[in-house]
Amino acid sequence: MSAESRPAIDGRIAELDDGQRRLLFDRRVGDAGEVADATRALLALVRSEGDDALFDFARRFDGVELDALEVPREKWGEALESLDSEVIDALTRAARNIETFHRAQLPSDVEVEVEPGVTLGRVFVPLEAVGVYAPGGRAAYPSSVLMGVVPARAAGVKEIVVCSPPGPDGMPSPVVLAAAAIGGATRLFAVGGAGAIGALAFGTGSIPRCAAVVGPGNRWVLEAKQQVAGEVIIDSPAGPSEVLVVAEEGCAQPAWLAAELIAQAEHDPDAAVAFVTTSPSLLEAVRRELRIGVAATPRREVVAEALSTRGALLLAADHDEMMTFAEAYAGEHVVLCTRDPRADRAGMRTPGTVFLGGASSVAFGDYMTGANHVLPTAGTARSFSGLSALDFLRSYTWQELTAEGAAGMAGPVATLAEAEGLPGHATAARLRGSKAGEETS
Ligand code: NAD
Repeated sequence: MSAESRPAIDGRIAELDDGQRRLLFDRRVGDAGEVADATRALLALVRSEGDDALFDFARRFDGVELDALEVPREKWGEALESLDSEVIDALTRAARNIETFHRAQLPSDVEVEVEPGVTLGRVFVPLEAVGVYAPGGRAAYPSSVLMGVVPARAAGVKEIVVCSPPGPDGMPSPVVLAAAAIGGATRLFAVGGAGAIGALAFGTGSIPRCAAVVGPGNRWVLEAKQQVAGEVIIDSPAGPSEVLVVAEEGCAQPAWLAAELIAQAEHDPDAAVAFVTTSPSLLEAVRRELRIGVAATPRREVVAEALSTRGALLLAADHDEMMTFAEAYAGEHVVLCTRDPRADRAGMRTPGTVFLGGASSVAFGDYMTGANHVLPTAGTARSFSGLSALDFLRSYTWQELTAEGAAGMAGPVATLAEAEGLPGHATAARLRGSKAGEETS
């Protein structure tokens, strides 16, 4: 196997040593301490200097001198006009599918009479303003614009603010601007990295403070979201992309399986890609296709670095060992090319999202199926869910007691209040209990 396509791990699951297990299951990127310290310093500058810090970061990290942070609406319109109609059609179709799938998931308000005269409700309300981060360092991510903006709009959010890093001309790429327009964003700023996350969370002279900050990004974006999490809602830790391809002999072509690994590896040298099978001959065939695919891809450098850092080709002793591994991996994307992918999916609790069968490439979900591609990475899918309209809603409850309800509850509530040593509560309940009938008659 050429050095370029050699994965970090290639062998049997049963023979993995401790270091290899750590690499597979503890997929946090970079030196956490170093990234955390650098990010803390950047966020502190955004807090103290606001827009000035953002102009400075654009110079330092994006290599561009900005005249303004906000990209005016006319530029969105110009971007729409400059793009091929196929691109506009594809963005429009993706937006439509995202909207359909996310609207279908909107929760319903609840109203229940728990006892006679005691009625409770829970209502969902959209957040006032939300921030959507769309990465833009190594590639442009108009798809991430749609994945954040469209569900926010479906949830009923009024102010949807997009931040994405500036290109050499001081603006995100035209396709990002077009996606903001098609998705229904209200404002867009050419700001990237930790600076963008801080600005959306704290507010600056030009960027409005938002109640939620969502979207994927590199290690600094991810860290910044975690650091502002105490002040605003954030979505899952959606970091460098990952895929775990689980396959059995005869269920998909080896070239398709290798292509899944290369596709996610091309996002980032920090991406993690793994393949597991019960078939030694399928493993060999995928190894060969990987070699061919890596040699052919124009993004060879990124793919090769990801493969050699966090890539794995693994042989499982049997179906059980393969699925136990998949469950423990808790991958952002899991592709199941097995004999009964629906049954295998039903046994899983930890994936970010699952693609069933050989035809279901992650690429379809990355762009167009309508399911959200902003997903938890680094094994955090054990606890977190992917982005959805729920991230843009909050709920509150309401409670209504009739005179009858109050009378029925006053005694037991007073008992509990006295047991807790809170006589004021006992009095408030008893007053309603004894007076309720008189006051309403
Ligand atoms: P990005 O927008 O996340 O990062 C670019 C920004 O990083 C720059 O604008 C700059 O502000 C900052 N930066 C660059 N160098 C820095 C440094 N030395 N110190 C501090 N800040 C610095 O774009 P990217 O780098 O291309 O990364 C995109 C990431 O998003 C990839 O890892 C990709 O895999 C991931 N992604 C994840 C999902 C998901 O749902 N998990 C979806 C799409 C993309």
